Amino acid sequence: MIKYDLKCGISHSFEGWFSNSSDFEDQVKEGLVSCPICGDLNIERAIVAPAIKKSALKKDLKKRNVPNLNELELKTKIRSLTREIEKQTVDVGDNFAEEATMIYNGKKKSKPIRGTATKQEEKKLKKEGVPFIKLPLIKDN
Ligand SMILES: [Zn+2]
Repeated sequence: MIKYDLKCGISHSFEGWFSNSSDFEDQVKEGLVSCPICGDLNIERAIVAPAIKKSALKKDLKKRNVPNLNELELKTKIRSLTREIEKQTVDVGDNFAEEATMIYNGKKKSKPIRGTATKQEEKKLKKEGVPFIKLPLIKDN
């Protein structure tokens, strides 16, 4: 694990842990790293932290009380949750924000839907008070 000092587009600084530098780049590309202060996705590395000894890292993790999750187990759980959600909802794809707003405003019959939304759409939904939850779904393949 490597610790990176990161900053967002308007210079909030925060820390992130990554397994290596390409992991960091991938996560930024996929929009998985956001500023904890303003939610900005425009993240870049500030200064590289010095290498940290394994023992120090372990102690640090313990101090932060980071649960030691088994990644495979977690993925399996998310997969079965994904299947459950797929059974009970209608996939509206990237029309999610539009559909959710219409249902919320009573312009469409109420039904459980799932789909994707952009950051902008998400902000709009929040502003209008349309209820939704975000889940990290993993598909079987
Ligand atoms: Zn920020």
